[in-house]
Amino acid sequence: MAYYKICSRCGASLDPGEQCDCEQEAEEKQNKILRLLTREEKNGQYTFDWLAAERETV
Ligand SMILES: [Zn+2]
Repeated sequence: MAYYKICSRCGASLDPGEQCDCEQEAEEKQNKILRLLTREEKNGQYTFDWLAAERETV
């Protein structure tokens, strides 16, 4: 009898107590995006640092 659970997010089968890394990956992705957002002092708007994004993905 197999004991495993299914990740509710991506459907992967996990060992009991195992945390699927899809959530962590999504979180890291989001953190990465947030890091690349910089706030302009002048107008208070957020701008995305495309150059930094390219550096990170290379
Ligand atoms: Zn998952």
